[in-house]
Amino acid sequence: ALAVTMTACGSSTKTIDAEASASAAAGNAGALVGVTMPTKSSERWIHDGDNVKEQLEKLGYKVDLQYAENDIPTQANQIENQITKGAKLLIIASIDGTAITSQLQQAADNKIPVIAYDRLIRNSPNVDYYATFDNYKVGVQQATSLLKGLGVADGEKGPFNIELFGGSPDDNNATFFWNGAMSVLQPKIDDGTLVVKSGQTDFKTAAILRWDPATAQKRMEDILTKTYTGGPKVDGVLSPYDGLSIGILSALKSSGYGRSGQAYPIVTGQDAELASVKSIIADEQYSTIFKDTRELAEQTVKMADAVLKGGKPEVNNTKDYDNGNKVVPSYLLEPVIVDKSNYKDVIIGGNYYTEDQLK
Ligand code: BGC
Repeated sequence: ALAVTMTACGSSTKTIDAEASASAAAGNAGALVGVTMPTKSSERWIHDGDNVKEQLEKLGYKVDLQYAENDIPTQANQIENQITKGAKLLIIASIDGTAITSQLQQAADNKIPVIAYDRLIRNSPNVDYYATFDNYKVGVQQATSLLKGLGVADGEKGPFNIELFGGSPDDNNATFFWNGAMSVLQPKIDDGTLVVKSGQTDFKTAAILRWDPATAQKRMEDILTKTYTGGPKVDGVLSPYDGLSIGILSALKSSGYGRSGQAYPIVTGQDAELASVKSIIADEQYSTIFKDTRELAEQTVKMADAVLKGGKPEVNNTKDYDNGNKVVPSYLLEPVIVDKSNYKDVIIGGNYYTEDQLK
């Protein structure tokens, strides 16, 4: 089948490729695939891991699935172990996208292809493919939803006080989310509709290492004390991840928001985690970005299967994800804004959660 899809491009290469793929196809049936995920502390990665494992096993592969509780050396060890155990392909959702270069070199020395899962692995030539969501668009959507919640989309002029949070600086996605969001917010800051009252407008100050909810809560508390004591109110918070939103909302609650006529500000999020969808229904968090982890798993498993059979997986982006060493061929999926107006359609209708789970 592969020979048919190949165009005439120098017949000797063709024969070698065809032979290599034929032997790969035969040799990799039932092969071991190593899957490493960052942490179980966020539900999304549990779904990701389960979905990838289940779908690979359906195709007859064996799977070693590991979580590293956000500890970089642990993840590096897990990858080394998978190489030692004879994995024929690695699927990696990295903790620090720059910290596993030597493990990847080891994989390359053993001719083990690598697929970066959701997060790009940086500074290494040994990343073959990347499956993710359109990360810049996620940021655009977060900001768009913030403007909708504030009424700016309907012509409200403000000025509105907002605060900005960024993701983990060692996660390549975090700057994509930030840049996407700022592409929408900056013009509104420039024209005075939005005011970042704390003055903390750069990514470095706003970034939350390892996406830690407690760190976000602490930063929000500090901002509330320093900037909002005795009068001014927070109208909106750009939060790039549901876990951070929970921490932020908790800081706001301690300072009097969410009761006696003082509504919560518009707070965004990402991942449609169960607690946050419930929080949206309860009028606490305003919105989240839904990224269907079932789709990401499916796309990644398709990629893995194609590579293991010696073929070329489908990609739809070959320009945006330069990892500092090369542009990694990518498949980008579409994220979706979810708020109270559409969660029934998207989340329940899409069988992501049942109505009962959201009660
Ligand atoms: C993922 C997000 C997630 C964040 C924290 C990012 O790399 O793309 O979906 O919210 O990590 O886990």
